[in-house]
Amino acid sequence: MSRSAPVVPSAACVLLALALTACGGGVHGTPGGYGLRDPYFPRAGNGGYDVTHYGLRLSYDPGAHHLTGSATVTARATRDLSAFDLDFKGLDVAEVTVDGESARWHRTGQELTVRPPDELEKGGTFRVTVRYSGAPVTITDPDGSEEGWLRTADGALALGEPVGSTAWFPGNHHPSDKASYDLEVTVPEGLQAVSDGELTDRRTRAGRTTFTWHTGEPMASYVATLAIGDFEISRSTTRDGLPVYVAVDPDQARASRPVLAKIPGIIEWAQDIFGPYPFSSTGAIVDRPGDAGYALETQNRPFFPGAPDTGTLVHELVHQWYGDSVTPRTWRDMWLNEGFATYAEWLWREDHGGDTAQQTFDALYEDDGAADRIWAFPPAKPPGAADVSASPVYQRGAMVLHKIRQTVGDEAFRSLLRGWASAHRHGNADTRDFTAYVEKRAPGKDFTRVWRDWLYGDGRPDRP
Ligand SMILES: [Zn+2]
Repeated sequence: MSRSAPVVPSAACVLLALALTACGGGVHGTPGGYGLRDPYFPRAGNGGYDVTHYGLRLSYDPGAHHLTGSATVTARATRDLSAFDLDFKGLDVAEVTVDGESARWHRTGQELTVRPPDELEKGGTFRVTVRYSGAPVTITDPDGSEEGWLRTADGALALGEPVGSTAWFPGNHHPSDKASYDLEVTVPEGLQAVSDGELTDRRTRAGRTTFTWHTGEPMASYVATLAIGDFEISRSTTRDGLPVYVAVDPDQARASRPVLAKIPGIIEWAQDIFGPYPFSSTGAIVDRPGDAGYALETQNRPFFPGAPDTGTLVHELVHQWYGDSVTPRTWRDMWLNEGFATYAEWLWREDHGGDTAQQTFDALYEDDGAADRIWAFPPAKPPGAADVSASPVYQRGAMVLHKIRQTVGDEAFRSLLRGWASAHRHGNADTRDFTAYVEKRAPGKDFTRVWRDWLYGDGRPDRP
């Protein structure tokens, strides 16, 4: 039963009550389920509820590598629930409450199963608060890359693609459940704490500084981030007045400054092509974690493991449209992130005196040295969890977009790119949504071979 929903006994219960004079609480919930049946990460996310907001209060001491946290997750039950799961790995749980009342809980692997004192009714909103502490863990993905909580020389960095956010707060850690966030982080005075959204408050007391970050637009937890350490901070705005907040590890400042100065220009160029920027601020984080050698499109301000080149900066910024705003429904749809972000690099080069997208496409098509990688599998069907960030998802994903461009022409193609970002702004979409969208927006064009050979087909397609 939810605190905010009226208690309405089911019809069956009323009948039963008339006959037997006894019937339980009126709601007959079942457990919500420990996963969302993602094709690659079946335990990621949980059934039975939809998170609307995360309220996180954290305190981290880098010297002791100790995190103390309180997470309040506000969610709506999507069915009657007797219990539900949160994804949460490592760290010790001290207490769980639901709507302020102590709840029973137990843990199995990455699942924290919560049994509220009263059952939760479908449609009702509930708040679960988890208090926890300990040494947050680094997670090794199926493809061998490191995510979760990464220690740095002067602090820590949280990266979450695909499941790393389980290492620092309990939640529904699947891209299909997006929510707003408020994050309050306390660190030793002198260090900075940088996250997504906007910094709304910063205060120091008794040698500790608390940073408050607010993310108003929906965010998937895999693009949530937190960087703690010594940073050079710079603030500016784009010509439209969009705030730009950049945090750079001092060791990387000299090398990063010239390329990060391009952020306002890249955002303006991207808005021209992809439509209005989807979030209320932008920027970047450059840090040096020992373990992560990859950049990530963390929301509002992408992360770079050192000074990026312009292409990588364009890639991660354009992900804000494709990935962060239009988010894949499952991890199978990764090419909708990576194909678009990669194609944005091609378009940037084309618009700035470099190779045309056609030249990039031709070079990839003819590069027999890269053939093993590019044609290993079709972009819409990675063979396993270790392949969702592999080359075909990026390069061949971009080639799918180029084939669409060849089919519809330049002008209609740009309108498709904008339209797709607008149709699913702040939502989720999958590959079928995309192919249906393209067909609807380009009636009379034949995409049979594009889908069959380029998107879903094995091996290198024949040249038309
Ligand atoms: Zn990417």
